[in-house]
Amino acid sequence: MATNRTFTMIKPGAVKNGHIGAILAKINEGGFRIVALKYTKLSAEKAGEFYAVHSERPFYGELVKFMSSGPIVAAILEKENAVADFRTLIGATNPADAAPGTIRALFAKSIGENAVHGSDSDENAAIEGSFHFAGTEMF
Ligand code: UDP
Ligand code: MG
Repeated sequence: MATNRTFTMIKPGAVKNGHIGAILAKINEGGFRIVALKYTKLSAEKAGEFYAVHSERPFYGELVKFMSSGPIVAAILEKENAVADFRTLIGATNPADAAPGTIRALFAKSIGENAVHGSDSDENAAIEGSFHFAGTEMF
């Protein structure tokens, strides 16, 4: 079922480098409505759980360490075609390949520290949104 929602995190590197406001502005300019928003920090255990799908990949340990290294901003976003349009707005996983003007091209430092997360399917958007937010925190 298409939900027209996606889930994002502004990752610790982008938070640390002062890009929260600029990234939220890009999200607003991109036509996304904020359904839920939270400034929080993942424990290593929670980060490992969130990225469990990548547990066999060589970068998993570094990814979990990085994602639990500092605060993040988590959000659920709404727009027609949200998942695909948000992936377009953020650009390729590796910022070296991200199209000019995309969030990752503008704010990511490397493939590991790539500024933002974006869900890859409607199903995962719902799972990831519920991982971070209670129903009472979604508007
Ligand atoms: N990642 C990494 N090295 C890689 C591939 C991915 O460090 O070779 C990290 C990167 O932070 C990425 C996350 O793992 O955002 C999840 O990978 P995925 O392939 O799902 O990329 P995404 O959906 O975030 O573009
Ligand atoms: Mg992914």
